[in-house]
Parts: sequence; C-alpha cells; structure tokens
Amino acid sequence: MQWTVRLEARTSAGEVKTTELVTLSRPGVVSTLAEIGLMLAETKTLLAKLQASMLCGQVAAYAVHHRVCAACGVLQPLKDRRTRRLQALFGTVEVEAPRFKVCRCRLTTPLAEVTVSPICALLTARCTPELERVQAELGARTSFRDGARILEALLPVSPANHESLRTRTHAVALQLEAADRQTAAEVTAVRDEPAKAAAADANRPVVMLDGAYIRAVPGHQVRNFEAICGKVEREGHATRRFALVRSVAEQPHALLRAALQGQGWREGEAVTAISDGDPALPALVRSATAGPVEPILDWFHLSMRVHHVEQVMRGLCALEPLSLVLPDHAQIDVERLRSLLWNGRHGKACEALGRIASWAKDAVVLNEPVAEATVRRLAARCAERRRYIENNEGALIDDGQRSRAGKPISTSRAEGTVNQLVNARMNKRRQMRWSPRGAHRVLQVRAAVLDGRFRQQAIQLAA
Ligand SMILES: [Zn+2]
Repeated sequence: MQWTVRLEARTSAGEVKTTELVTLSRPGVVSTLAEIGLMLAETKTLLAKLQASMLCGQVAAYAVHHRVCAACGVLQPLKDRRTRRLQALFGTVEVEAPRFKVCRCRLTTPLAEVTVSPICALLTARCTPELERVQAELGARTSFRDGARILEALLPVSPANHESLRTRTHAVALQLEAADRQTAAEVTAVRDEPAKAAAADANRPVVMLDGAYIRAVPGHQVRNFEAICGKVEREGHATRRFALVRSVAEQPHALLRAALQGQGWREGEAVTAISDGDPALPALVRSATAGPVEPILDWFHLSMRVHHVEQVMRGLCALEPLSLVLPDHAQIDVERLRSLLWNGRHGKACEALGRIASWAKDAVVLNEPVAEATVRRLAARCAERRRYIENNEGALIDDGQRSRAGKPISTSRAEGTVNQLVNARMNKRRQMRWSPRGAHRVLQVRAAVLDGRFRQQAIQLAA
C-alpha cells in the first residue's frame, strides 16, 4: 500500500499550488504490529517538509509584497538573491532573502544606490519564538542535556544540543526579568474609597520567603550560594512563585514587586511577610513595597527550635535515674515552651528558657560524662533560643489566634516552593553545580513555568 501526502496552498488571490510532501509505503497485507500506522521517523520527515513548504511560501509572499515601492507602487529592481536560515520547532529552513534596490523616487541623491532586504527585517532572530519557548520550558524543567534529548527524540528540530537549550533558557529569562522590571516600574497607586481599602487590607497579600543553597561551579569564590524563593498568596488569586539569586539579580526587589502586582497588590497596601529569622528576607519585601510590611516569624522554624530543646530534655530524662537530679520544674518549663510560644506569650517563654538554662548550668551531675555533655548542650540551646526570640521580637505573633482565624502562619508551604523550584532542578544529589547567574535565570523561567504564567502571558521582548 502507498500513501502520498500532498499540500495544497491557496493564496489570498485564489491561486492554488500543490506540493508533494512524502510517500509512505507498507506491505499490502501487514505481518507484524510494527508495520501498522505512522512511524516517528516518517512523521519527522513529514513535519519538516510541511514546515519548509509553509515557511518558504510565507517568506516568499512577504518578499513579493515588500518589493513594491510604498511611495509610487513600482516594483523595485532586484539587486541579488541571498539565503537565510531560520530554526523552527519542526526543522531548520533555508529561505530566500532577495535584496532590492531602493526605488529612485525615495532617493535624495539620484545617482546613489541603496539596497533593502525586507526578509532581514522580518527575521529578527535566528529561531522562531515558539522554538525558543519550548526549549526554555524544557531547560527549566529538566537538565539541558535531557531536554535536548527529548526534543531530538520527538521532533525534527535542529540543532537540539544542550548549549542551544541553555542559550534559549537564558534569553527567555532575560525577557521575563525585563517584563517584571517594567511591571514594577508602573505606578499602581490608586486612591481607593475607605471601604475598598479596608477590604483590601483584610485580604492582604502574604509573602512567604525561604532561602535555599545551591552548589557553586568550581572556581567560584564560595562553595554554595543562596537563592531566595517564595510565593505570594492572596485569596481569589492563583499563587505566584518567585525566586532570585540576589547577587546577580539586576533589581531583586522589582521581581518581588511584580509578583505582588500580579496578585492585585497596589502601592501603599500593607503586606504580610512570613519568613525564618533572617532579617534580609522581610527587608527585601520592604524594599519591594516601599510601604507597610507586617513581618511574622515563621511558626515552622520556631517550632523546630523548641523541638530541639524538647529532644535534649527527653535524652536527659532517659539518663536521669543513674546520673543526675532532674527537678520537676525544669521538665515542666520545657513542656510549657511550645504552648507559650504558640499563644504569643513570648516574654514568659523567654523567662522559662532562662530558668532552664540557669538550672542546667548548676545541675549536679554524678560522674557521668554523657549526662554532663547533654546538660551543657541544653544550656547552650536554651540561651540560643532565647536570643532568637528576643532578636525577632517585632515579628512574633499569637500563632494560635492567627491560625484559628484561618490565616497562614508558616512558610512550610514556602519550603515546598523551594523544593519545586530549586531542589527538583538543582539538586545536590544530581551533582549539579551552578553559576549564580545561570541558576538565577533558570529560576526565572522555572517559576513562570510552574505558575502556568509561561504559556498565557506573551513575553514582551526586551528592548
Ligand atoms: Zn517609488
């Protein structure tokens, strides 16, 4: 059996041109399952020929249209015929790019000769925007090498090497960043009526931030560098992720500001920022909003710190009958810590930590080096926790009350974002090493891809 695929092109003038694309043959009666249907290799050839045929037809029509002088309507003389290569998702196509002599009616000096190449004005890049986006999405989702292999396996695209995937991912990241900077520069101040402003404040955006460490390429000054990841949540809006490597981001605050604006935030509206104890994180939110920020110390991190104290205490209780005198009040203080902090009674929690630390310092240890080391560790941990709580005084809240009101109190969800954005693509176990700039750019595309922003929003080309 034979199948012939013909392409029928009909111009707007009604002219029809038929091109034979491929002929597929199979035995009249098949003997195996493998002989049934269209094969991948055939599909690649078919798509490549279809692409070439369509693309060359369009480019030729464009050249014909632009050969006519816009001023007097006369055909401009042909200077020479050149070719240009354009990479597209379904193959690289060589197109004709004729050059014309500019019509005499538009020349200021009649004897001068000026040439024009309309195709060069059309082909502003070496690849189509669609190919660039597909390569960037793959580059953000998986390693550049794997992405290139996937493309090569399925499509007649060329070249499908990892270098080209990296270049395209970086190019798209620059476009995304430029679009964010442009959004951030727009003035969004709106003088709302008091009722509307109150409603906006009740549903204020919550920014959850967390840091992640990425292994640096050899030769870099540090072994690891930090990426800041997070998400902006607001009722009635789809979550928006963002990530950046501060040292290489052109305007780190603009990226966060654009994310806030994407959530309907307007200049002057308050924002809640939940993070661990790192003061740089709420500071970033402040520089993004240039307005009121309510910082909240993340319950997850606070709870982990209490957990470490509880753990040491449990270890001591297990040793107790043999080696030390463990007073009840020390145990009770440790047990109360969590509920004191949860209910926003931070002063009381600090007092309890102080009591445990001072007991641990004077504890009578009976000839037991293990117990002595554990007691010392308890004292050190309590003192450190106390400093942590005191340093973050302005960011401590009644977590219980906030939680009962249904508001977020923890960045554990931001940690999920760290996993999605950083760990899944830049995992240390995969032995990947990154330059801060490379990581920053991949993160821009990855955040857009995971949000679903990548396909919807037309990226404005950076000037
Ligand atoms: Zn003319």
